[in-house]
Amino acid sequence: MRSNRHEVVVVGAGPAGSSAALHLAQRGHDVVLVDKSKGPRCRIVCTGIVGREAYEKLDLPRDPVIDTIDRARFFSPSGVEVSYEPRAPMGHVVDRVKFDAALTEQACDAGATLLRGYTARGVETVQDGLKVTLDNGEQRSLHTRALVVATGYQRRLHKMAQLGRAVSYVNGVSADLPFADLDAAELYFGNQIAPGFFAWAVPFGSGKARLGVLTRNGGKAFFRKFLEMEPIRSRLRTDFTNGGVDLIQRRMMSRGIVQGAVQPSYSDRVLAVGEAAGQIKTTTSGGIYYGMIGAGIAAEVLSTALRKNRLSSDHLSTYETAWKARLGGEIDAGFELQRMGGAMSDLEIDELFTALNSGLGPAVRVLIQFDWHQPALRALLKRRASWRLGKSMKTVKGKEVA
Ligand SMILES: Cc1cc2nc3c(=O)[nH]c(=O)nc-3n(C[C@H](O)[C@H](O)[C@H](O)COP(=O)(O)OP(=O)(O)OC[C@H]3O[C@@H](n4cnc5c(N)ncnc54)[C@H](O)[C@@H]3O)c2cc1C
Repeated sequence: MRSNRHEVVVVGAGPAGSSAALHLAQRGHDVVLVDKSKGPRCRIVCTGIVGREAYEKLDLPRDPVIDTIDRARFFSPSGVEVSYEPRAPMGHVVDRVKFDAALTEQACDAGATLLRGYTARGVETVQDGLKVTLDNGEQRSLHTRALVVATGYQRRLHKMAQLGRAVSYVNGVSADLPFADLDAAELYFGNQIAPGFFAWAVPFGSGKARLGVLTRNGGKAFFRKFLEMEPIRSRLRTDFTNGGVDLIQRRMMSRGIVQGAVQPSYSDRVLAVGEAAGQIKTTTSGGIYYGMIGAGIAAEVLSTALRKNRLSSDHLSTYETAWKARLGGEIDAGFELQRMGGAMSDLEIDELFTALNSGLGPAVRVLIQFDWHQPALRALLKRRASWRLGKSMKTVKGKEVA
């Protein structure tokens, strides 16, 4: 890198940051993509499911695909099963390390410069731009006309860059483990399993599964309990008594996941993308595709702003309007589902599953899309008279849920 003066610095080479760097470089901008990891990250806490739509609409790398999800099975607390098998596969399970590395390579091929092993520690306004302070044991700084914050759930830069706060967080725990007889994505619901959320087992190549749980609190304890329950325990190819507990302990990874739009997701010369902006499904906490959508919108707005030299927060505010128009409804609907799910008893969840296997099912199933949950959720709520509703579901904290 010859100069320390650039048009755009993107901090974070996850899917969102690499996509933003790619789109900006393709538009002819001088972009530096900075990541604190020295090489491709070796441990990423993520199940790595990327929906079919994302593969169809974006030029995503195929090499990292490990498995394909053709069908899903949902289990209620007492074991009522609802299965869903669409005509075309729902999505792919990717090796996140390879996936992220491939996206970063695409950005570099388009002309972005990669700076690995540097943590961005500071942002300050200077004449005609921003100074971004980087640290790899020694400090250096980059002068830039604009900054894209794509640091995922890590918020070190948000306050300095005058970006907003996350509405809330959930806790995701997962592990790749030897597992038998899994031919579909399986999702488990219930207050003993994952109150208000769910646990999962997803095929991850031959003889392996990615297991996980999403909860508000106590994720690791819920995860251990999930592994002990049937029909999980008997399919785990892990001897609980002989080293298996160590294996689980070593493989288990956990982290917080941002929930809700981070507002503002822009300030003078700055945009946040991906999880750093809250571009995450609040239903499942999937964020790869939404973050890449956000990155595409950010690149479009920022490219115009750079060419017109209109980089004030007033001008960049169109970014938030645009990404919220695309993703905001889904984020709100996911919160609605969280409130509803959190207030349901196990019996009510069982009854909902039973209804989904009868009259309610077809009306909702036709509306299911892997990445867009609002239509199916609205259909479910509209027909709520057809499944028994406990008092808790009609009002949550005194408000109507739909
Ligand atoms: C258990 C679990 C399961 C999940 N499963 C799925 C799933 O199946 N599908 C899905 O779509 N989503 C899933 N997600 C969510 C998904 O992992 C995130 O939405 C996604 O990684 C966000 O991408 P990003 O590019 O915004 O951030 P990240 O992927 O987190 O990338 C941020 C990058 O910024 C770098 N960085 C951070 N701070 C700095 C700094 N100060 N300086 C320099 N570099 C920095 C990091 O090293 C990292 O490379 C899951 C999450 C969890 C926890």
